[in-house]
Amino acid sequence: MKPVRFSLFCVISSALAFSACVSNNPSPIQEGSGSGKVLRAVPAARVVMIGVDGLGARWIPWDEMPNLTRLRDEGVFAVARCHRPTASAINWKSVFSGLPPELHGYNLWNSQKPGIEPPACAFGPDGAMPDLFSEIRRQRPEAQTVSLYTWGGLGFCHATNAASVARHFGGTAGEYAARDASVFDEGLRLLADKPLFLLLYQGQVDSTGHATGWGSPEYTNACRNVDANIGRLVDGLRTLGLWDDTAVVFVADHGGLDKGHGGKEDIRVFEVPFLVSGGAARRLRLREPILLMDTAPTILSLLGLDIPNPMRGRVAVDPS
Ligand SMILES: [Zn+2]
Repeated sequence: MKPVRFSLFCVISSALAFSACVSNNPSPIQEGSGSGKVLRAVPAARVVMIGVDGLGARWIPWDEMPNLTRLRDEGVFAVARCHRPTASAINWKSVFSGLPPELHGYNLWNSQKPGIEPPACAFGPDGAMPDLFSEIRRQRPEAQTVSLYTWGGLGFCHATNAASVARHFGGTAGEYAARDASVFDEGLRLLADKPLFLLLYQGQVDSTGHATGWGSPEYTNACRNVDANIGRLVDGLRTLGLWDDTAVVFVADHGGLDKGHGGKEDIRVFEVPFLVSGGAARRLRLREPILLMDTAPTILSLLGLDIPNPMRGRVAVDPS
């Protein structure tokens, strides 16, 4: 079925679901959501994605992160799984490409290109690997998209040349907290231009985990810093009048154990948070199980855009 027809099908399905709700009959969308069909969520006017390196789901100090806790309680949250090997570039590449590592070919923590040759089917008709930023640019060429990050390696995991603004906030590992704060400062400033998609990456949690250990007091403090940044973002969205039609997507690339995150058995390395919140996410529910490669298709769906064929992740949200 062509994407346009599929969209029409979704609109009709939504209308049927609404009328079914009114007449107290079971909603076709609710019945269909477990059948493997991909149903489109209500589009958001914009998506803000927060990506926190190294924040394993089991390591989140919820009591110390009141702003993240509020996003969770007002939105939908699931414990997702990262891909193997459990390292950064491999998983961020999956986040943005919608492909598993077996297909995108990144195989090292700091891969800058595929270390394993991807199969031809992993590429689109234009010969390029699918990418969230490229896909938004292709379908909405006029839209503003912004990528702000503090780990240089992230620049090799997404198509920075397809973003309206892509900026690496460089510096030493010891300066991560200040640089992470600058990412949100700049993000808040650029929100005034109403970008369709804004990526805010945070590096200090992973960096602190490697220095003092996952779950250490210093690790918890890094989580507190990130939470303060999230609080400023939410306040800024509300002040600008953007909260009600924004979806906030929150993910991490892997967890950790002791001072590392290479893992073959321990679940604390594999489990990561997958959260969708914000005013535009009020009537959603998540379709589990969720893998990190589901992130790009989910964000495209939240924006009302089509999912390109080479992406293998699935849309992780349904209207409820
Ligand atoms: Zn990482």
